[in-house]
Amino acid sequence: MRTISFHRTALIILFLFVTLTIAGCALRPAPQNYVTVVFRFDDYSSTSATALERRIIDLFSRYQAPITFGVIPFACADDIHDPAPQETIPLDPSKIDLLKSAYDDGILDVGLHGYSHQTISKDYYSEFEGLDYDRQLAKLNKGKAYLEEILDAPVSTVVPPWNRYDLNTLKALETAGFTTISAELKGISTEKSNLDFLPATCSIAQVRDCVDTARADLDRQPVVVMLFHEYDFKEIDERRGRTTFQEFSALVAWIDNQPDVRLRSIRQVSELP
Ligand SMILES: [Zn+2]
Repeated sequence: MRTISFHRTALIILFLFVTLTIAGCALRPAPQNYVTVVFRFDDYSSTSATALERRIIDLFSRYQAPITFGVIPFACADDIHDPAPQETIPLDPSKIDLLKSAYDDGILDVGLHGYSHQTISKDYYSEFEGLDYDRQLAKLNKGKAYLEEILDAPVSTVVPPWNRYDLNTLKALETAGFTTISAELKGISTEKSNLDFLPATCSIAQVRDCVDTARADLDRQPVVVMLFHEYDFKEIDERRGRTTFQEFSALVAWIDNQPDVRLRSIRQVSELP
């Protein structure tokens, strides 16, 4: 299906080129520098809003554009803000199928978004920051193995819950075989780390302004990482929501229509030379 549409696109482009060349017109060269935009959608889990996630995947499929989901492998059954022992719920078969098929279609990039996304403290919300090295490593190893078994593919990105992590996390990530961390701009880093750091840089409400700002710096190949959640949609949370799905669709269409902007996943950006 995708191959057919690609060939059709290629033929149309070839036809246009020949037509314009015959007519003596010069094609405008494609821009060499881009603003790269990453959409990072956190909190995919056994308890998240499947219908919305399906719509998001369908939307990105329409544009054949990649999106990165931060996936919680074993969501805690009760309140993520309560550190008391809780049951965990692995992804159910329908959520596994949705993830796997979008991954196989080349639309979805998957990052490990914690183990259960349950805080270890009531004073500050964090699943990793403040936890000892061995327990962080055990969580990372288990979560990574679970997602890799589901996808039958390597998972090399971690998105720490609440964007919180510490030096033990960075060490454990490398031991567990991760290559990339996506948290937020104020996250710590160290020269000893070989990880790629790709923090979130803006919210759903800021992304157009971010792209415009980044355009002033095209020579440096800027990357905009937009972080969003299901509660950003008014259809899910009337009070916290910042956008309707229709407005979100228009945003993706706008980005797709910008000749100097390209959509990439976290993995694609971290694999750039
Ligand atoms: Zn989260």
